[in-house]
Amino acid sequence: MRVRPYKSMMLSPNFNIDEIVSPNYIDDLTSSQYEMLEYLCFNILEPMRDFAHDLFGRDCPVTITSGLRTMSDYYDLIRTGYRPSQKSDHFFGAVPETCGAVDLCLSQGTDTFFWALSKTYKNGMLHIRGEAIDFGQIILEKNKTFWIHVSNPGEIFGIKKRTKNKIMVSIDNGKTYKNV
Ligand SMILES: [Zn+2]
Repeated sequence: MRVRPYKSMMLSPNFNIDEIVSPNYIDDLTSSQYEMLEYLCFNILEPMRDFAHDLFGRDCPVTITSGLRTMSDYYDLIRTGYRPSQKSDHFFGAVPETCGAVDLCLSQGTDTFFWALSKTYKNGMLHIRGEAIDFGQIILEKNKTFWIHVSNPGEIFGIKKRTKNKIMVSIDNGKTYKNV
């Protein structure tokens, strides 16, 4: 059995690599994939977790429901009724022009959290605890339950921004996307 060298490594104080990298991923990660994973955890997910703490007044664990995907994960998602993209940032550079994304939810109040977070948006950044947080896109999505898609800012990784709409809502299982 092949053991992944990075098993159980912490990417940031509250996010472990095993939560984010699909168990179907057996290849070694590239250094740019590590960079994408660390950037996302340190610079975006940790502040979002802080924001959830401040909003709900208690520690709010964030559950990663989908992180770094393989093509077989992509086909599994289609089989189970989701509408993933073949050029999704969930491929973390394994597909060209992708820069890293996760889907996350809270144990409750995922949609409340999204709307409160979107109110901090100004000049292309989120603002959490006095800090400006750069990101790629944040999308509230829903199939049976809500989740939030969060991606890295592509420019950091030399990828041109594909969209101007940074905060969006798609609560019809990915059929339509509305700008917030
Ligand atoms: Zn996603």
